Amino acid sequence: MTVRESVLDAIGYTPLVRLRRLGEGLRPTIYAKLEFQNIGGSVKDRAALSMIRAAEQEGLLSPGGTVVEGTSGNTGIGLALVAAHLGYRSVVFAPAATATEKIRLLRAYGAEVHLVGDYVPRSHPGHLANRAAAFAAGTPGAWLARQYDNPANPAAHEASTGPEIWRDTAGGITHFVASVGTGGTISGTAKFLKKASSGAVQVVAADPDHSVYGGGDGGAKYVEGAGHALHPESLEDVWPEAFDTVLVDRYIRITDRDSILTARRAAREEGLLIGGTSGTALAAALRLAEELDESHTVVVIIPDSGRNYLSTYFDDEWLTSAGFSDPAEPALSVGSLLPGPAAGVPILPAGLTVGEAIQELVRRGADCSLPAFLALDRGTSFGAVHPREVSAAVTLRSLAAAVESNPRAAFSPAAQQGEPFASVGIGTAVADLAQHPGQLLAVLVDGRIAATARQPFAGPDRSQEPAASRGII
Ligand code: PMP
Repeated sequence: MTVRESVLDAIGYTPLVRLRRLGEGLRPTIYAKLEFQNIGGSVKDRAALSMIRAAEQEGLLSPGGTVVEGTSGNTGIGLALVAAHLGYRSVVFAPAATATEKIRLLRAYGAEVHLVGDYVPRSHPGHLANRAAAFAAGTPGAWLARQYDNPANPAAHEASTGPEIWRDTAGGITHFVASVGTGGTISGTAKFLKKASSGAVQVVAADPDHSVYGGGDGGAKYVEGAGHALHPESLEDVWPEAFDTVLVDRYIRITDRDSILTARRAAREEGLLIGGTSGTALAAALRLAEELDESHTVVVIIPDSGRNYLSTYFDDEWLTSAGFSDPAEPALSVGSLLPGPAAGVPILPAGLTVGEAIQELVRRGADCSLPAFLALDRGTSFGAVHPREVSAAVTLRSLAAAVESNPRAAFSPAAQQGEPFASVGIGTAVADLAQHPGQLLAVLVDGRIAATARQPFAGPDRSQEPAASRGII
């Protein structure tokens, strides 16, 4: 048995596990590097330890100090556990949509957690990076980890992840696949592997479909921790310094659906419980493996465990509510409320008058019998967007009422012409909808709004039933 002299020594040395079942029928050997075996449960433990050690050496963090970071979770968990072990206070700013399991973990390690708005331009003071920076600036003894630009982040992987893979494959690795958040994992590991193999190892970035890294439109996504979304009001697109794009030979883009369903497959077919970005990387590795032969060895990074996502990707109800599963009973599901195929909803850009908004719809030939249009300010004119990107759902009636009172009034979807809406999966049973007759519904297919509908009727009157049976306890 291997003895580790402290918790910090239990970071790294993660195993490579051959994927026998998922790799069946594929010619190369595929190994998964199980980064959830790090003591804090993710690949980010390595970067957290490395960044804290570097800060100590540079005199930026000293006894009694506070570790601060804006993070979608895993870096915060790594920082919190290293801080706990070394006696620092830790304060983490996390997006409100972060999996509850990760928020609870942060608190379990004693971190103070501040949840911040999810979809905020990078330049806005409310953006998580700016909130964390402002907090650090105003707190004596505080050190901001800045994982996106901190060279100690990729350096951790150059010093440990890369050498481990090289050693454990006896120099036999030919392809390295990883998802990209800060880029620390892929850049540091690739730097080592490229050098060790004299440039022979091919480096593949597995990227969520909408991520800007791989050429996507920057739209919001479901996998947490990887990919690069771009808020439409962001003034510039700043890529992390930790991400050395020169080292990437190829991007493979993976949809949210494929990421999530691949993670679920890994649990059920391989017995390997992995997170969403692991699903992204694994889906890319499997796609890549189809092009390769027996002479190749693929290593794919599994950044964290599915235990962090039991209430989301692995929860059947969640899957249905986000439109990722096919309706069990199509005739009784939300899909049956739609007049036609769910092919996307007309989108109105910001910055118009109400009169122009109507003209715009007419110009685009929008079907005026649709229950609603969506307002957001990305350039797309028709399409399927993530509900987080929508500032309002707008009905023709509300636009007509506004234009009657003042055609030159600014089109102000959230304030005036918008109507509240509920997001429901296309496979959600109509009987399960909230009891608001006529409510506007944004219908999700694969997590994106692909149609709008109205709830046709109020559900059964359950007000006479005992409270517990209505789920109120
Ligand atoms: N997957 C998950 C679940 C993560 O939390 C992260 C870190 N944000 C990554 C992948 C990407 O790692 P890196 O920041 O090293 O690119």
